[in-house]
Amino acid sequence: MSADVIIIGGGPVGLAAALYAARSGLAPVVLEPRAGTIDKACGEGLMPGGLLALGALGVDPQGHDLRGIRYVARGRVVEADFRAGPGRGVRRTTLHDALREAVAAAGIEMLPFSAIEVTQDDAAVTVRTAHSGTAGPVLTAPWVIAADGLHSPTRRSLGLDRDHGAVGRMAGMRPLRRYGLRQHYGIRPWGDHVEVHWGTHGEAYVTPVSDDLVGVAVLSKQRNPLSDSLAEFPHLRERLDGAPVVTSVRGAGPLRQRTTRRVAGRVLLAGDASGYVDALTGEGISLGLAHARAAVAAFVAGDPQSYERSWRLASRRYSLLTHTLVQVTRPTWTRRLLVPAAATLPPVFHGAVNELARPGS
Ligand SMILES: Cc1cc2nc3c(=O)[nH]c(=O)nc-3n(C[C@H](O)[C@H](O)[C@H](O)COP(=O)(O)OP(=O)(O)OC[C@H]3O[C@@H](n4cnc5c(N)ncnc54)[C@H](O)[C@@H]3O)c2cc1C
Repeated sequence: MSADVIIIGGGPVGLAAALYAARSGLAPVVLEPRAGTIDKACGEGLMPGGLLALGALGVDPQGHDLRGIRYVARGRVVEADFRAGPGRGVRRTTLHDALREAVAAAGIEMLPFSAIEVTQDDAAVTVRTAHSGTAGPVLTAPWVIAADGLHSPTRRSLGLDRDHGAVGRMAGMRPLRRYGLRQHYGIRPWGDHVEVHWGTHGEAYVTPVSDDLVGVAVLSKQRNPLSDSLAEFPHLRERLDGAPVVTSVRGAGPLRQRTTRRVAGRVLLAGDASGYVDALTGEGISLGLAHARAAVAAFVAGDPQSYERSWRLASRRYSLLTHTLVQVTRPTWTRRLLVPAAATLPPVFHGAVNELARPGS
């Protein structure tokens, strides 16, 4: 089987890449082994830039408008509104359904297989596929976009994983491994902001996703059950007290994933597969959409290497701000100071929130 581009992974970034490719007049094929609507551990806050990018693709998932970001710690509250228009809290399943509908409407082929081997020569990439141990079709295309998630098997097979690095090891620095868990509560949202509660060991962030549903995601270096992690957020626990739990807990991690390169010949990495810093700033989907658009533009121009530049351009604000925030709040004493400091310096807090919220490059 052949196509103009093979997209490995039918998550939001893979499906968006397929839509961008189809809009450029190409015939993409998407490989996704999981059938139907896919749920996943996610905070489910679409930042304004991501929402605009989805709209431009004709995808308008239902959800709850988000006015901005609110930080909460020990009774102190500081908030910043988005200047670029609202974001939206959207259930992951709703987002996936909306993207799948757009992909189906564009006549894009989705095959229910995993990519199990990717090989290439000067002219084309060959992808072997399988499902539940049974071999599937062998596909060839001039280009591949690997959007196969945080633990991307394609990234690993191409040797593009980057470890903590010799400098970090020599300095005796342990990489910070953080993990995320999420669950939903059937309760009327009490605000229109993504609310980030800062605790001693981690953060709990609350995203309204409909008129009667909020998602709670906890990010931490500790791998405790969600109910234990929530114990350090008494104010939030009070809010959720008595609310029915309506989904099972889902988790992901370690969140930090680094890559040596994003382009290996004719294979381009996009979304979480291309590297990830942390979920703290809720940027993953918006950023992945910017990657998907840039990857398609690069191979349409016949210049895959230009994707390295556009990937860096799209990622650098997010990487810098998220990495800085995660590192600065490693010690307990700085975690305690963060919200008071943000309240004392509103222009810095507003500036950071809006840097992250603005549309991607
Ligand atoms: C706790 C948590 C909270 C978060 N909160 C937010 C938030 O509020 N806002 C936000 O924008 N982002 C958030 N993120 C990040 C966001 O979830 C990710 O950035 C986003 O899911 C990336 O999409 P993706 O398509 O790259 O990867 P994924 O959604 O992981 O999709 C990858 C797909 O590839 C498929 N796949 C894997 N291997 C293969 C293979 N070999 N062959 C074919 N297919 C394969 C998988 O089945 C999967 O469907 C959060 C993440 C976490 C963990």
